[in-house]
Amino acid sequence: MMIVMKQSASDGQIQSVVDRVVAAGAQAHVSRGEFVTVIGAIGDDREIVAQLNLEGEEGVERVVPILKPYKLVSREFRHGDLPVVVDGRQVGGGSFGLIAGPCTVETREQTLETARVVKAAGACMLRGGAYKPRTSPYTFQGLGTPALEILAEARAETGLPIVTELMDVRQLEDVLEVADVIQVGARNMQTFDLMKEIGRTDKAILLKRGLANTIEEWLLSAEYIAKEGNERIILCERGIRTFETATRSTLDLSAIPVAKNLSALPVIVDPSHAMGRRDFILPMARAAVAAGADGLIVEVHPEPEHALCDGPQQIRAEVFTAWVADVKRVVDLMGLVMAGGEPVPAAV
Ligand code: PEP
Ligand code: MN
Repeated sequence: MMIVMKQSASDGQIQSVVDRVVAAGAQAHVSRGEFVTVIGAIGDDREIVAQLNLEGEEGVERVVPILKPYKLVSREFRHGDLPVVVDGRQVGGGSFGLIAGPCTVETREQTLETARVVKAAGACMLRGGAYKPRTSPYTFQGLGTPALEILAEARAETGLPIVTELMDVRQLEDVLEVADVIQVGARNMQTFDLMKEIGRTDKAILLKRGLANTIEEWLLSAEYIAKEGNERIILCERGIRTFETATRSTLDLSAIPVAKNLSALPVIVDPSHAMGRRDFILPMARAAVAAGADGLIVEVHPEPEHALCDGPQQIRAEVFTAWVADVKRVVDLMGLVMAGGEPVPAAV
């Protein structure tokens, strides 16, 4: 990092900063210019910046970090993609992962029927919530453990890996038994103890971006997981909160190229929760693929009008095959291959 000294900084103040840099285990390079002195601290920024606490010190104008605050998930450290492979299905690195299924596991029939439909349409994994993070405590909270049993049955029948949300460490043991991919919901992206706990598992992680979190904060949450040893992380942009109220959230398509530029992790998009209305999902799904997404996660229901959660945004199961065929035109255009699943019918 660079420490820019004030024009008025005394030799004593400069020396005191140099001493602190050296005490922190870094090397100090002092460049004395005509007006200001700049001290280069050579070492790992991520540790030195926090340790030195130089902002606001006497004689210090500002501190400029050179390295990103995250390391393991960064592209600058990795020099390449870190695709995530789940039971033979690759997400990232040129392989496109379509994850689909109901918002919530409601019944055995609803889940199995949806699983069959999404598999036939070309999805490579099945999503479905057992534990639901609902805004209101009076709404359906998910079936919990019985839902996990239904998901296990859906996997046994279709072979599709299961993506399901973990809300609390107390559910970890049960979720680990069934999930192939542990989903971290937008509302839990900064529950750091949860990030550490899942970082110690061998499951792939689908990490949603928080509703009011920056891309840097999102990548730092991924870093928490990676730091514990688990680097199988898929980032998921699901819309952020802005002043606009016409859609449920504002899908931040710019997060796709930005996150992929900063990080080696695959980035997928959830247009369902961003838009909140099924007729808006297809255009944003196409746009997400065109912007470089490595996959999509979408909600599908056989009878959305009777859904216990997120009915208006769930794609009707009966049109899902045509829906996928439409999106696949953009997947082809981007030179990506669909991961796993069944062959997708040609576009209509
Ligand atoms: C979900 O995928 O079911 C969900 C609750 O999404 P989010 O955390 O993005 O709101
Ligand atoms: Mn939902």
